[in-house]
Amino acid sequence: MAAKSIHSQIRVLRCLSNDCDGMLAYEVLDDNVLYIDLAYLAKSDGETRYFPCPKCGGRNVVEEIEDAKGAVKHRVSHFQTSP
Ligand SMILES: [Zn+2]
Repeated sequence: MAAKSIHSQIRVLRCLSNDCDGMLAYEVLDDNVLYIDLAYLAKSDGETRYFPCPKCGGRNVVEEIEDAKGAVKHRVSHFQTSP
């Protein structure tokens, strides 16, 4: 019987488009917070920062958040189709 981890599950980021489910080369925690903060690799379009999906070409938008200790992190918050 495997012990249940008390830590957040690390998983590969999946495209947030319901129709796509493409895999992106980033690791995230349960709530889509980047495990290793690679937000600097995100592309930017004006104020929007995003990871382009290799499968559908849409945008997985990255937002800056603060954790409970006030540290700045990044979270993939929602999906936008490519304009
Ligand atoms: Zn996609």
